[in-house]
Amino acid sequence: MKTETQPSKNGISQMMNETLPGKLLVIEGSDYSGHSTQSALLKDWLEVKGYGVFDAGIKRSSLMREAIEEAKEEQILGRTTLGLLYATDFADEFVNGIIPALRAGQIVVADRYIYTLIARQLVRGSDEDWLEKLFSFARKPDLIFYLSVPPEELLHRCLFSFGRLPYWESGMDLAISNDMTDSFLMYQERLLKEYERLSEKYRFIMVDGCRSIEDIHKFIRKHVKRLLKME
Ligand code: ADP
Repeated sequence: MKTETQPSKNGISQMMNETLPGKLLVIEGSDYSGHSTQSALLKDWLEVKGYGVFDAGIKRSSLMREAIEEAKEEQILGRTTLGLLYATDFADEFVNGIIPALRAGQIVVADRYIYTLIARQLVRGSDEDWLEKLFSFARKPDLIFYLSVPPEELLHRCLFSFGRLPYWESGMDLAISNDMTDSFLMYQERLLKEYERLSEKYRFIMVDGCRSIEDIHKFIRKHVKRLLKME
């Protein structure tokens, strides 16, 4: 008989180990590393191959997206609180998007997952054990690609695409430097170090993000074909 203390069969902690027919593919990387470009290419290619694809990512939940935008705009929340808003956004997307899609046998292409949220919080001084517990409900992906791009190239792409440096992506909240370019480079360097540490722990497939868009896509496809036994 079910008692009060037993977790619900449908509870979030049960979802990470549930046997599900779908596959979870993650593309990770810093801002401007090309993760959106590669996620979109992968999604389009899988759809052409006849797979049902669910498009996932961070800051997408209807529950939290607006609150996060507002908090970032007004810069009123502390680092941990903002991190918790992102974690809530992820949990909502996980329970209401990713898990149902995997149950339905779809391929989930996640344009970033918990690793970016963890790396960003680590750079902001959060405790690693705490972060690990916070995201312990997240299902282990079938493949995690990490696009590695040096800060100087990220800076170039950012300026080329947007013509300016954004506040958060430059790590201005960390008050590393008053000069935005210096801050961007130092912040991205710190992030890179955290991603590299996480890459060993979570077994990322390292991708040289400075290769051409097409070459990277082909490399990702090769791994996905093997996973899905397409050849
Ligand atoms: P992200 O989603 O990681 O922030 P995007 O995919 O939007 O980055 O790409 C940022 C910019 O870099 C865009 O102008 C994009 O065309 C360019 N870009 C993406 N991948 C590459 C690549 N491999 N080489 C050169 N430029 C790229």
